[in-house]
Amino acid sequence: MFVLSMGAFNMKDASSKRRVTILGSTGTIGANTLDVLAQHPDKFIVHALTAHKDVEKLFAQCQRYQPRYAVMVDVVAAEKLSTLLQTANLPNIQVLAGAQGLIDVAADAQTDDVMAAIVGAAGLLPTLAAANAGKKILLANKEALVMSGALFMQAVQKHGATLLPIDSEHNAIFQCLPINDSRSLIERGVQRIWLTASGGPFRETPIEQLANVTPEQACKHPNWRMGQKISVDSATMMNKGLELIEACWLFDIAPDFVEVVIHPQSIVHSLVSYSDGSVLAQMGNPDMRTPIAHALAWPERMRVSVEPLDLFKVAVLDFKRPDITRFPCLQLATDAAKQGGTASTILNAANEIAVEAFLNKQIRYTDIATIVDSVLNKLPSQIVSDIPTVLAVDEEARAFARQMIKPSFTQVCAS
Ligand code: NAD
Ligand code: MG
Repeated sequence: MFVLSMGAFNMKDASSKRRVTILGSTGTIGANTLDVLAQHPDKFIVHALTAHKDVEKLFAQCQRYQPRYAVMVDVVAAEKLSTLLQTANLPNIQVLAGAQGLIDVAADAQTDDVMAAIVGAAGLLPTLAAANAGKKILLANKEALVMSGALFMQAVQKHGATLLPIDSEHNAIFQCLPINDSRSLIERGVQRIWLTASGGPFRETPIEQLANVTPEQACKHPNWRMGQKISVDSATMMNKGLELIEACWLFDIAPDFVEVVIHPQSIVHSLVSYSDGSVLAQMGNPDMRTPIAHALAWPERMRVSVEPLDLFKVAVLDFKRPDITRFPCLQLATDAAKQGGTASTILNAANEIAVEAFLNKQIRYTDIATIVDSVLNKLPSQIVSDIPTVLAVDEEARAFARQMIKPSFTQVCAS
């Protein structure tokens, strides 16, 4: 059954604005969301903003958007923010400190919509809290689904939450799917989902040079401006692997029905093939404000200041099969998707540690796949029974990955 949208979600009447909480407001998605909200002050109120420890950025956002709550996970940063807000004569903004604050604002009774835009595993518990509280969730944090897809989707269903994809590919697929009913996608004529990928900055780099690429090069995505972690994931195509897993959970479809295709222009954001030969695609300039506006306004549409697509300028659209020797992370993620259970939890945890080490110049780019592969081989996949199990597996996988980044391994890598 296709269970993307479970809740009896209704647009409120025009006089009542929707209250939006942004988890991860200081990130790329967070900033884009604020930009879209600022274009529609008649429709939305910024209810809560959250960040890990970037005080200056969150303070600036507080000054501009004046939310009811501001959460800083880092306690020292929270104290600093509190002082800054007092000095700026903004005492009405309540500052919450620590990870519990994220959960509190995600589940807060006054929150209508939750933008889940924290990067990585840190997003799981607050996003799950929003699901348990039956919120409308705009899901950018794909890691929550990768880590605990079955449990997350059960929570959405059980508590009548509404789940809308922000990842541009999944938002595109959502827009191209048939009307939701109780039948499976296959019964409704869907034959295949095409997940497009730009191929990242190393699409054409000679494979033998990949061991020497730098974090700066990896973060220079040709088409999208994104946070560092997802930029590295895009370079390795682990991001596409995580997205494949995300698509399987969101659309209740087996991995074999999802095909990854390289499309360097990033104009076609994904496609759906039907049994009558029709292929529906969603297109647009690569700008995350489009999927954000789509999900915020859904089931309506609303204006947003993105550059309109000019097909004469685009002229050519290319499509190509990904080369697995160049992108081994894509194969690892596909295998984990097929294996099921905690395999994708392990994959995600090992990848987060490896990407962090690469960004800190402790390992080479090509070591990311080696580390993820080794951790997957060390830890057996088990059934995803409950969240404590997911968190324990996540921690265990991180510990194994960290062992591989010890100086001895780093020396081997460097030699
Ligand atoms: P980013 O690095 O720019 O921002 C991350 C946000 O998470 C920041 O606000 C940061 O303060 C917060 N954060 C980081 N660690 C945290 C922690 N331990 N606890 C609480 N908060 C923490 O990332 P981004 O590019 O905005 O991506 C956010 C999410 O959206 C990721 O899951 C990413 O995969 C997904 N996504 C991003 C894009 C994009 O275009 N940037 C596209 C699709 C999906
Ligand atoms: Mg994406």
